[in-house]
Amino acid sequence: MKVVDHLRNAGEKTLFTLEILPPLKGENINNLFGNIDPLMEFKPPFIDVTYHREEYVYKKKESGLLEKSATRKRPGTVGICAAIQNRYKVDTVPHIICGGFSKEETENALIDLHFLGIDNVLALQGDAIKTEAKFVPDPNGHHYASDLLDQIVKMNKGYYLDDELQNVSPTNFCIGVAGYPEKHFSAPNLKNDLKYLKMKVDMGAEYVVTQMFFDNKKYFDFVEKCREAGINVPIIPGIKPITAKGQITALPKVFHIDLPEELADEVEKCKDNASVKEVGIEWCIQQSKELIQFGVPTLHFYSMGKSDPIYRIAKELF
Ligand SMILES: Cc1cc2nc3c(=O)[nH]c(=O)nc-3n(C[C@H](O)[C@H](O)[C@H](O)COP(=O)(O)OP(=O)(O)OC[C@H]3O[C@@H](n4cnc5c(N)ncnc54)[C@H](O)[C@@H]3O)c2cc1C
Repeated sequence: MKVVDHLRNAGEKTLFTLEILPPLKGENINNLFGNIDPLMEFKPPFIDVTYHREEYVYKKKESGLLEKSATRKRPGTVGICAAIQNRYKVDTVPHIICGGFSKEETENALIDLHFLGIDNVLALQGDAIKTEAKFVPDPNGHHYASDLLDQIVKMNKGYYLDDELQNVSPTNFCIGVAGYPEKHFSAPNLKNDLKYLKMKVDMGAEYVVTQMFFDNKKYFDFVEKCREAGINVPIIPGIKPITAKGQITALPKVFHIDLPEELADEVEKCKDNASVKEVGIEWCIQQSKELIQFGVPTLHFYSMGKSDPIYRIAKELF
């Protein structure tokens, strides 16, 4: 079933949903299931699975020289989506990225998903390779999420790259896109960023999932500005509890977001990560309660491979 149908069917009720990361290459999928199993108590109607492009690693050869090779540290997004649908009978939303994919490879990946009965995708530009200063598209691929979206929308209408194909069957993807309450780091300002978000929605994106935020006001202002800009699709808030002291400097650096003074001060006062986790969980519960009151369609938790804090938060709310 499509994400937007789940949201519509829930009516006024706020749902519980989550995003997971594929395990590191070589790890057993049962570790992942062990994290998801307890969360099924809160009946998530869909689970997002992130996509991780290759990274460059350097290995020392016998000669002492370094050899550069590309490796994908967290492969398996499509397999995990299928495994989750199979095991839990829950819909999955694979993230599809521009980076590292030619249009042909994207088309083939979408065909796989379609054949697997996966009806949802989140269309993204994708992160730059860690050792590259900026995002570089594949020479035969897409630059912006809107370009990727265009390809998926066309496939939904039965247009494949090869226009001479006979007996084509359209795909049927519900497409979500990303939104940034504190603006995308490369956008000159929020208004400009919203121009492109509106473009994605006008092209066929049916909902928006936000970057994580720790100050609900940022989300409320963002929703207001989106509505003023004519973006009228559901805007799903993405949230995450802080669980370690290092995150108060790492999260702003990686995700280009601010942490409220009160939260950062409380975390700084903590003597160990066990107490940081308690502060983070309590903050996330308060954030969630206010978001539910605001009437958000779902609370979308960034689990980042750890279910225990999410379980404790959900237990308080659902
Ligand atoms: C909910 C969520 C999930 C994510 N999941 C993943 C994941 O699984 N894997 C991963 O690698 N990364 C993921 N990311 C990170 C994301 O890919 C990066 O933040 C990336 O830099 C931007 O992606 P986007 O889809 O928002 O890009 P875009 O929509 O392409 O926007 C990128 C920038 O370009 C501007 N822009 C957009 N369209 C145009 C245009 N046509 N012309 C000119 N400028 C334009 C925008 O304003 C913005 O500043 C996720 C982010 C979010 C919020």
